[in-house]
Amino acid sequence: MAKRRIVLTFPSRLIDQPITYHLIKDYNLAVNILRARVSPKEEGRLMIELSGKKSSLDAGLNYLKELGVNVQPLAQDIRWLEERCTHCTVCVPICPTKAITVDRDKMRVSFDKERCIACELCVPICPYKAIEILF
Ligand code: SF4
Ligand code: SF4
Repeated sequence: MAKRRIVLTFPSRLIDQPITYHLIKDYNLAVNILRARVSPKEEGRLMIELSGKKSSLDAGLNYLKELGVNVQPLAQDIRWLEERCTHCTVCVPICPTKAITVDRDKMRVSFDKERCIACELCVPICPYKAIEILF
């Protein structure tokens, strides 16, 4: 089973298309919608996690691209500003996916973008605004 966390950006002509339905039915993918937004210019953005066979994932992503949907990895929308981080560890226990971990010997925090689901729990809790979700 393969998993991919991505952000889809739709032009206005695609906003009312049943795209997630097709990903599920035609490509046999599980679609977990993490967040959705429609901007004032009627551009749609969808943050999703896709899972299924690797071949199905590749086919589903190809379908999206051919349709004209911009596909980018979720990791691009998440930023840990290491220079602001004081390694205080306040955010470590709150992270549900262990995207933020601490090396207790060195008391250094590290951030793994690939594990982050952009839940934003760490954003308000960080006293130094060291984590940004751009979505
Ligand atoms: S946004 Fe959520 S998943 Fe990502 S690092 Fe923060 S708490 Fe963890
Ligand atoms: S709460 Fe902010 S400053 Fe503290 S470890 Fe987490 S990211 Fe770094």
